[in-house]
Parts: sequence; C-alpha cells; structure tokens
Amino acid sequence: MKTRIPCASAAALAACVLFAAVTIPVIPYPPGDRTQPLPRQITPGGGGTEYQPGAPPSDAVVLFDGQNLSGWQHPDGKPADWLVTGGTLQVKPKSGDIQTTQAFGDCQVHVEWATPDPTRGSDQEPGNSGVFLMTLYEIQVLDSFRNKTYPDGQAAAVYSQYPPLVNSSLPPGAWQTYDIVFHGPRFSADGDLTRLATATVFHNGVLVQDHVTLTGPTEWVKRPPYHAHAAKMPLRLQDHGQPVRFRNIWIREIPDATR
Ligand code: MG
Repeated sequence: MKTRIPCASAAALAACVLFAAVTIPVIPYPPGDRTQPLPRQITPGGGGTEYQPGAPPSDAVVLFDGQNLSGWQHPDGKPADWLVTGGTLQVKPKSGDIQTTQAFGDCQVHVEWATPDPTRGSDQEPGNSGVFLMTLYEIQVLDSFRNKTYPDGQAAAVYSQYPPLVNSSLPPGAWQTYDIVFHGPRFSADGDLTRLATATVFHNGVLVQDHVTLTGPTEWVKRPPYHAHAAKMPLRLQDHGQPVRFRNIWIREIPDATR
C-alpha cells in the first residue's frame, strides 16, 4: 500500500508553502475576556433622503454641514470660494480644487453628491468632480447613469486604476453617497515605500471597491509610482468645471494607523 506524503507533488508543495506563508493573528485577549476594554459608545448617524442630508456619527469630524466652508481652502491657501447655498456646497467652475485645512491619515469618509441636471457634454464631462484622499488618490465623481466613458474613469472608479464592481449610479440631480475606507501608504524615514494604499468604497450603499490596492497616485491616462509623503494629508474635492453639489461630508480617522 502506498503512503501519501503531504507536499509530495509540486502542486501540493506549492500549496503547503503558500499555507506556511499565512500568518494567523495573535489576539492579545483570550475569548470572552471581560478585562478587554469595551469599545467607545457613540451615536450612529442616519441616512439621508432626496430632500434631507443624513446625520454624521457623533464621533465624526464634520467637514461640511451645510453652513459654511470654514474648514476648507484652495491648495494655495486662499479661502475656499465655492458656493454654499440651501445647505449644499457647489463647485465654482474654474475656481480650482478645495481641500480641508486639517490633515487626515487612515480614515472613513462619507460624502453626499449630486451631478447637475440637466447634464452638459458627454464622456468625462457631465458631473465630473472627485474625492481625493490625501489630495492624491481620487475616487471619481461623474454622471454615470446613462453617460458612458472608459470603465476606470466612471463614477466610483479609483481613477485610472479600478472600475467599480458594478455601476450603482442614480440619475443626474439625485443625491448619491460615497462611503470610503482608506488606508494610506507608508514610507520609511528615507522615503522607501513600506506599505501600499488600499481603498474600499460603497456607492449608494453598494460595495463597488473591495479593498483594492492602489498602484500609486491617480492621474489621467497614467499610473505614476508612489512618492513619499506625510502620513496625514488633507481631503480634496475636485473642480472639473462642472457645478457638482455636495452635502453632509464627514470623516472618522481610523485609530490604529499602523495596522
Ligand atoms: Mg474627476
């Protein structure tokens, strides 16, 4: 009788090596240990409607609550001059991008946005804007309900890198939501890349980016390599010449930034 030896074949050996490379996490508390600190209790937010923005969780940093742009500026430091009207923030075409005055690291971001109705143009024009994590990594904002463009340039794409898993767009003028979980890259003291950035995105509550690994900053028709930058940087909104509206923007930093 033949005895089967694990990892005897090349395929099985490869599988064993792969298995050996997996590291099971060590949790510092045994199961059910009541000495483990309880999670902080917060008040969760609420979902928005067509007529009313949602409410942020109680521990969120509110970046825009419909009142003013006090926490925003243009990249050159000039005061943000996009239009605040009726509780919404509207891109002022040709005025330039705006970004938060505060810098953030790994984070959860919520943004509500609406593309113009009626639309203007086609392809990359209608309702083009963007949510830039750390000013460098864009989640595309676009009217992708009927308007067609290249897949990694449509709404909810990690621009020029990953198309969304599905097209979960609503029509022009409708309020839509992004919920983003972003882990930024890490660099050593001498500038070497030590961790890649990842993004998870829900568009209107639907998973469209599942923990994708970014190739570097997002740019038009190219994929430039990472370059060293700070562990915390502002959140930026794009002026692409279209009067896109925003409301209820908040962010929560993810505590364990080294994870
Ligand atoms: Mg854009």
